[in-house]
Amino acid sequence: MDNKKIKILRKAKQIFTSSNPLIIENGSIVFDDKIIWVGKDSDLPSEYLKLASKIIDVSGKVILPGFVDPHTHLVFYGNRIVEFELRLRGFDYLKIREMGGGILKTVKDTKNATKEKIKKYVKKFIKKFIEYGTTTIEAKSGYGLDLENEIKILEITNELNDKPITIVPTFLVHDFIDDREKYVNEVIKNLEIIKQRNLAKFVDVFCEKGVFEIEQTRKILDKAKKLGFLLKLHTDEFYNIGGVKLGVEFNAISLDHLNEITDNDISLLSKSKTICVLLPCTTFLLRKNKYPPARKLIDSGCKVAIGTDFNPGTSFTQNMQFVILLSVIILNMKIDEAILASTINSAKAIDMDKFVGSLEIGKFADFIVFDFDDYRYLVYNSAINNLKMVFKKGKRLL
Ligand SMILES: [Zn+2]
Repeated sequence: MDNKKIKILRKAKQIFTSSNPLIIENGSIVFDDKIIWVGKDSDLPSEYLKLASKIIDVSGKVILPGFVDPHTHLVFYGNRIVEFELRLRGFDYLKIREMGGGILKTVKDTKNATKEKIKKYVKKFIKKFIEYGTTTIEAKSGYGLDLENEIKILEITNELNDKPITIVPTFLVHDFIDDREKYVNEVIKNLEIIKQRNLAKFVDVFCEKGVFEIEQTRKILDKAKKLGFLLKLHTDEFYNIGGVKLGVEFNAISLDHLNEITDNDISLLSKSKTICVLLPCTTFLLRKNKYPPARKLIDSGCKVAIGTDFNPGTSFTQNMQFVILLSVIILNMKIDEAILASTINSAKAIDMDKFVGSLEIGKFADFIVFDFDDYRYLVYNSAINNLKMVFKKGKRLL
């Protein structure tokens, strides 16, 4: 504890801790880069008031943990506005991909841009994440599709970490250019290089009909596990090919999308430690009708997190407040469940819950302050950004 750097946020109407107790009325938080004390203002030890270099009155406001976005495709160059409009006219994602559009356009744009140009471009997105209250994100590679370009994306991801938000890197086996088997074998070799250079914490595979099917996914997971990577899968977004069974077998930290899962899959997930990461913005923006069964997952005892799936093709949003809105209105989650899913559960989905995701002593001083006096306004005052302040490791960003 550095006495000179102690700050206090005092007298918040509510602190939604994502821990126990869930809500503190008339609460205060003492912090430097980490949380030193949190509780009712009437219990605030007077020594902190004497030591503090700054005391901010937040009466009438609500404090939440900074949002943790557990699923983004952060690093790329260019946009897919043309494809977005084609989809609005009735073309579907897999069809656009068959036509050589979709991801292949982003791969080309990203390959042709320098590292510096991409970084400058991505920093604008990071600013948007902060403006809507996100202080930690996971970021996947996957727009390189060859070793040199995947490494370029992972290097950028690592270089952007802590500037100023926390970024957790994932190597995503996303797609292939022409020969799938050849690419799988290349990936298996490349995993060793990525591990040696410590460029990624997770390995993720797009396990989907027509992309990487069960046997290819198994080969990649097998090698990744042996090398000590933590595992994730994109699965059951469009078709059910058995990705949940495979993911649970490999003790994946998270399985993401899950629109097409069966009751049997839910039963497997409920008995596992795997977090279900649901991405309702993607379904909404693709104008699909089949959303993941959030209610059933939660009622069956599964752990549910939510994320933006920020990417240039199917979900071009950095706004976790929008994800919370859709999760409550469309996925039938309760408001407190949706906040837990975007803070502590999403921190678990990226193995960061020791540091972020809840307001507890010793965790990073990552929190956000809203200009309303009841956390439920977050959904009730729909699609309005009432965010007033953002703190990351105790430093005010907004
Ligand atoms: Zn994704």
